[in-house]
Amino acid sequence: MKTEQQKEILLEVNNLKTWFPVKKGVFRSTVGHVKALDGVSFTVYKGETLGLVGESGCGKSTLGKTLLRLVKSQQGSVLYHDEAESVDLLKLDEKSMGAYRKKMQIVFQDPYSSLNPAFTIFTSLKDPLNRFGIHGKAAQRKLIGDLLEAVNMRPEYMDRYPHEFSGGQRQRIGIARALSVDPQLVICDEAVSALDVSIRAQVLNLLLELKEKRNLTYIFITHDLSVVEYISDRIAVMYLGKIVELAPTQGLYDHTMHPYTQALFSAIPLADLDAKKQRIVLEGDVPSPVNPPSGCSFHPRCRYCMDRCRTEEPLLQPYEIEGNLHYVACHLMDTKSYQKVKRGE
Ligand code: SF4
Repeated sequence: MKTEQQKEILLEVNNLKTWFPVKKGVFRSTVGHVKALDGVSFTVYKGETLGLVGESGCGKSTLGKTLLRLVKSQQGSVLYHDEAESVDLLKLDEKSMGAYRKKMQIVFQDPYSSLNPAFTIFTSLKDPLNRFGIHGKAAQRKLIGDLLEAVNMRPEYMDRYPHEFSGGQRQRIGIARALSVDPQLVICDEAVSALDVSIRAQVLNLLLELKEKRNLTYIFITHDLSVVEYISDRIAVMYLGKIVELAPTQGLYDHTMHPYTQALFSAIPLADLDAKKQRIVLEGDVPSPVNPPSGCSFHPRCRYCMDRCRTEEPLLQPYEIEGNLHYVACHLMDTKSYQKVKRGE
């Protein structure tokens, strides 16, 4: 098993909490909090694609935005490991954060709304270049032309407007814009979810190609389990603001440990029409993140729920499962024979 120490860490997230106030009444007083992220910890290694999956509302998009400080977190740290030093992004002032925004970019789901319809592609793409110190029209046109070629589009398209492109082309432009400042980490937030299946495959392959050529690291947020299996090296499963399972992709699909992941994966359609799979239907709705259940937040819907699950929160612990480092937050793991791995092994 490749140990964590043998891999180079890019991002280390510790106990991240992002809560949004719920306000009520004439005086808009705070009566509670939506706990969108409630103690999330994980590591992103250089050059990997970390998939982030879960039902809508589980906090995965908030996590992407919190890492980029597009939304404010209340607690925790996001350590960016850069050459010899590591910097807590949540502690930086706005000016110092600017340098890290250049290293971390995001591609959103809806490329149309992220491109100004009144601007040509050149105007939209030169904005980040100006912000990060790449000036001069000739240099910018050359760079944008190269970027469009990198995403398999013609350089002359830079003088057209967003409405002249299809959804797939607009998403390629969104990717070109993210790459324009030469980032190390790209967060793809449902980046292919709005695309037709055939176009989706093209954009996924493009992302894989660009990752190889430019040494990129991806955090790939999606609710589509077939997409995440295709593109990810490791997958983290989120439920109600927490990561409940995290493992290398094949290890997770072969040995799904958490009851929530088992239910989620049981809904993936099989390619073989004759093959049979038992679908696990989850009872009830996702509980409110304003008032999450005590103990394990999945316990009201879990078919294995034990007494301790109602009161004691399971921690995300590392295990060695069939040669993989596999993190699981479930009390059931205490009843199995898997070996717990000490941190850093
Ligand atoms: Fe189910 Fe208990 Fe595991 Fe939660 S801790 S997933 S309730 S078995």
